[in-house]
Amino acid sequence: MIEALDPKADLISEVATKAAKRALCIFAHPDDLEFTCGGAVAKLALDGWAIDIVITTSGNKGTKDSTVTGQQLAGEREQESRTAASILKANEPKFLGFPDGMLHADDELRELLVREIRRLRPELVITWDGFRPGFNHRDHRVTGISAYDAIYPAADDHLFHPDQKYEGLEPHRPSAMLLAGTDDPDYHIDIEPFMDIKISALLAHTSQMGGRDAEGLKRMYEERIQASVADEESANLPKLRESFKKVILRR
Ligand SMILES: [Zn+2]
Repeated sequence: MIEALDPKADLISEVATKAAKRALCIFAHPDDLEFTCGGAVAKLALDGWAIDIVITTSGNKGTKDSTVTGQQLAGEREQESRTAASILKANEPKFLGFPDGMLHADDELRELLVREIRRLRPELVITWDGFRPGFNHRDHRVTGISAYDAIYPAADDHLFHPDQKYEGLEPHRPSAMLLAGTDDPDYHIDIEPFMDIKISALLAHTSQMGGRDAEGLKRMYEERIQASVADEESANLPKLRESFKKVILRR
């Protein structure tokens, strides 16, 4: 039995000490992870965490180039994602293969996510904040909400998808989640020492970079961070950071 996490203590240290250093990143498109939490993942990997990645689509609509087919693009983007994962020292991503932009928060997607959670048994899940209003991609919302629903209560309750036990999969509840791309962050990770790794991993997504180089990417990221909070708030936050909403699942 895993102890409850102290909500006042640092979330990642709590999970590492009281549960296990196993993280699962669930995202919608091949480059989502690198944009939102590439620095955090590089830091976790360096701290000895095992990092698995599940990506719900292969981003097969992410181009303005009319000479490329969706199938070609999916193959290219999956390869870019594998390269980026190896730069971050994460395990090879698994692609669920749903079509880009057409994702539904239905039982099929949830069952596949429950299977991955029961198979990989993460204690920390990093995924999209599926509840974020405003300017946001449909696949990000659907992936975030479906990951949340898969984690609680489905993966932890043996009466959800009971046939999975014949594959040797037992119920599992991770200890915590970090929701990325949130408007209301309460957990910030200082990624300054990992910025160059994050940028290298982003650059592995050649098809999505629109000719940007490392300097251009770094500048874009710094500007986004500065624009994300008011000046008086940013004074207490790490200058280069990735920000999340934390959800504790073991109380
Ligand atoms: Zn995306």
